Amino acid sequence: MSLNKSMHPRNRYKDKPPDFAYLASKYPEFQEHVHTNLSGRAIVNFKEPEAVRALTCTLLKEDFGLSIEIPLERLIPTVPLRLNYIHWVEDLVDGQKQPRRGIDIGTGASCIYPLLGATMNGWFFLATEVDDICFDYATRNVEQNHLSDLVKVVKVPQKTLLMDALKEETEIVYDFCMCNPPFFANQLEAKGVNSRNARRPPPSSVNTGGVTEIMAEGGELEFVKRIIHDSLQLKKRLRWYSCMLGKKCSLTPLKEELRKQGVPKVTHTEFCQGRTMRWALAWSFYDDVIVPSPPSKKRKLDRARKPLSFTLPHVAVKELQAKARALGCTSRHPLKAITTLVEKTLTDLRVLHKHVPCREHEQSLLLTAMENTWLHGRQKRREQMRQLRELPRADHNTAATTMPSLTQDTQVDAAQKSDDLEVTAELPSVEGRKVTDIADEVDQKLPEQVADVETKPGCDPAGTCGQKDASDATSEMSSKQPASPLSVERFLFKCLLNVLHEESDAVIEMHWVEGQNKDLMNQLCTFLRNTLLKAVSKS
Ligand code: SAH
Repeated sequence: MSLNKSMHPRNRYKDKPPDFAYLASKYPEFQEHVHTNLSGRAIVNFKEPEAVRALTCTLLKEDFGLSIEIPLERLIPTVPLRLNYIHWVEDLVDGQKQPRRGIDIGTGASCIYPLLGATMNGWFFLATEVDDICFDYATRNVEQNHLSDLVKVVKVPQKTLLMDALKEETEIVYDFCMCNPPFFANQLEAKGVNSRNARRPPPSSVNTGGVTEIMAEGGELEFVKRIIHDSLQLKKRLRWYSCMLGKKCSLTPLKEELRKQGVPKVTHTEFCQGRTMRWALAWSFYDDVIVPSPPSKKRKLDRARKPLSFTLPHVAVKELQAKARALGCTSRHPLKAITTLVEKTLTDLRVLHKHVPCREHEQSLLLTAMENTWLHGRQKRREQMRQLRELPRADHNTAATTMPSLTQDTQVDAAQKSDDLEVTAELPSVEGRKVTDIADEVDQKLPEQVADVETKPGCDPAGTCGQKDASDATSEMSSKQPASPLSVERFLFKCLLNVLHEESDAVIEMHWVEGQNKDLMNQLCTFLRNTLLKAVSKS
């Protein structure tokens, strides 16, 4: 599964993964590591450190004009991940193409963050390193790219992080520090045997880091805690402190530590690339900094809040009003008329519904679907097949409960014979779950070396959008609804259906509240739209 679609929006590899064939034709030293697979595609074996190194050096040359040397026995950075971090720091310090002053704690042999930050944005860097080999390479990499005016590499003792590096410069305020800390506490963790999931697959790429680079006493948690404690002394000497994390589970205890220490501004992010996820934490003692919101939360909320909707054009609204009148609706309000028709369809489908308070000039119904009565037998079987094909990891119980017995279909069946009622084609793919995802190809190209490979979860099937009245709705079901309180507890899903005006048209929106699978709401939405439009086309 590829995470490239969730890369930082400015990451140059987000929609344009490296073209191995092109790079191989241009760089002979890279060509040696490129093979052609059975389908004729140029591929790189990421289990070979030489190949990983060749790709990194080639991308830095091709896309940033940087020439670097890195020994095989030290950590070889991957460019897309490092870029994601640089772009996030740009967001923190408003530093895109603006001179800023930063510190890279543990710059590694490549010195990649300072080289990228200086080249892309003209940033000044103090780059620290404890390891002799890394220090020598980093110094040479800066010199051979003529960046010594912007990047100063310093050797520091193991026990120190920020304090020693800054003790000579008491005046300068730095805009930020960044750090890719040694991730692992011991050899077992480094080999991918971690407490989170002992059965995780082996990493898809090689871990090339040397012992001091990837391991630190107490792992990344202790390492970052030490940076936090330095920051508590240095406070406003830096506008932002930041750190990358190899494990999501490090986030909570570190945030808790920052909270305990009363740090006023804290945020985090996630870096997605290839098959790998990383996390990063940032904190500040300044009140006037802009704090970017965590993207995962933003994405989840956007996804949960975005309703499904369809429009009933003005002419259709007029005809539907006439239909509603024929059914006994006395209101002259067009939205009330449409709501009456929607309610009739919902009653026919045995979908529980009740009016809930809403804005003026709108109608709002809370729906509770107990059984799938909107797909007929053939469609259900096809849908079941589709789910099995596309959601290999879907819970089988869920699939079973969403496919009720065929005897319930009769009424819907008759209304669904025409092609325009095809529901399957309307179903959105569940984000991140499609096995045929074309972006998988990119996975092969952009892995990360370190063992802890985390895949992104699919859409949150039980995500709620915090709609008012959702939680107490079951107890207020209208008495004519055919359900006992006991069976209401076993609903398929709940959603809020709003009928509103958009100029002279009417719009029906369906907001997810909770339940098993948002595809079900999508199917019902399509059914309602087709039923309403069909009523118009018949008259
Ligand atoms: N920044 C590079 C390297 C990260 S590996 C990259 O992203 O690719 C972590 C680095 O931190 C190693 O090079 C290790 O030698 C260095 N390191 C470990 N402890 C350190 C300390 N106390 N101060 C500075 N560097 C340290």
